[in-house]
Amino acid sequence: MSMWNAVLCFTMTSPYFQNMAFIKRKGVSLTRCTAPASLLSRRMAADASSSSSVAVKVEEEEATISQQTPSLSTTDNRQDLLQLPIIQPKPEAEDPPLSSHRRRQKQIKVEYDKCGSPAKMELWHPPDWKEQLEHIREMRSSRDAPVDNMGAEKCYDTEAPAKVRRFQILVSLMLSSQTKDQITAAAMQKLRAHGCTAEKLLSTDDDTLGKLIYPVGFWRNKVKFLKMTAAKLANDYGGDIPDSVEGLIRLPGVGPKMAHLAMDIAWDQVSGIGVDTHVYRISNRLGWLKKPTKNPEATRKALQEWLPRDLWSEINWLLVGFGQQVCLPTNPLCSSCLNQHSCPSAHQSSPSKRLKVRSPLAPDPASSLPTKTEPGQEIVVKAEPTSPRRNLKRKMKQ
Ligand code: SF4
Repeated sequence: MSMWNAVLCFTMTSPYFQNMAFIKRKGVSLTRCTAPASLLSRRMAADASSSSSVAVKVEEEEATISQQTPSLSTTDNRQDLLQLPIIQPKPEAEDPPLSSHRRRQKQIKVEYDKCGSPAKMELWHPPDWKEQLEHIREMRSSRDAPVDNMGAEKCYDTEAPAKVRRFQILVSLMLSSQTKDQITAAAMQKLRAHGCTAEKLLSTDDDTLGKLIYPVGFWRNKVKFLKMTAAKLANDYGGDIPDSVEGLIRLPGVGPKMAHLAMDIAWDQVSGIGVDTHVYRISNRLGWLKKPTKNPEATRKALQEWLPRDLWSEINWLLVGFGQQVCLPTNPLCSSCLNQHSCPSAHQSSPSKRLKVRSPLAPDPASSLPTKTEPGQEIVVKAEPTSPRRNLKRKMKQ
């Protein structure tokens, strides 16, 4: 007799093991299922009842489970016996009845709130965001930021046909990347005077186009992207622009931010939040993200997780102007900001760029101290202009 058969005989004859139950969840094998669902359901109900806010309803679902003693002749079943969890049995009288069709009621737990509808998960949101948003609306009420007068919504020819207006909106968005609104608006004015349609840009040589859009940021690259995009739009869309984010981001030089803004401005459809450098920076400063983000696209996804959809269009316009006037990239005007008492970044302008006082790269404070020459006479010697590298060398010698 093999060792395995010896163990098996002992298992089958021992009164201790006779009370054991083996359950295989996904398979068909079940032996002496003497403690099963009724005990589990009572435990689940007891667990749930400990939570005061959520009621628990135990619903039953039929599942087919074999009540036959499993065959022990195969390797699989041996592994089942060795690996499956063991559930202590209840007295026989409390066992749930097994039908003649080898079916048993499978217990599933469904959580309900007190009103009877399924319990909703509480979504994370920043603690003071509503108040902060109202403050930003108040600070933006004069609508006199550059974006209010020179943004992409203001740069197209309102008299042009609809498809030309949409094309010009896309062009102004492409030019606005890494560029101040004033410079984008000036370039758009020159382009419109030249003729700003897909066909016209396609027939314009690169040098002329470069002169028209200069000095927008990365103007040489933008000349290439404009020509390639104009060619695709003229060939595939009849000079119009795609009406989906997927179509827009396939265009050369068009990213998610531009695509969502183009959908909003040109097609009047809100497909996502347009996150530029201002929205990215301010969302992180205000703690509007569950975790700090490292780029605008991650910021867009994190904001969209909790910000109500009806604010997605407004938030770009609000934060861009707020970033241009108050929450500046460097040295934000926190003292004038209505959010200074709730903002976690208030009065901490660009802390990562500051040199620590004890840093070897920091200017030597001793070099600006007054130097006494004569008793009673005190003159201030202007510190020599020193470089951080020179300071470091001096400290290394000491
Ligand atoms: S308190 Fe300062 S950092 Fe915070 S939102 Fe206002 S300006 Fe920006």
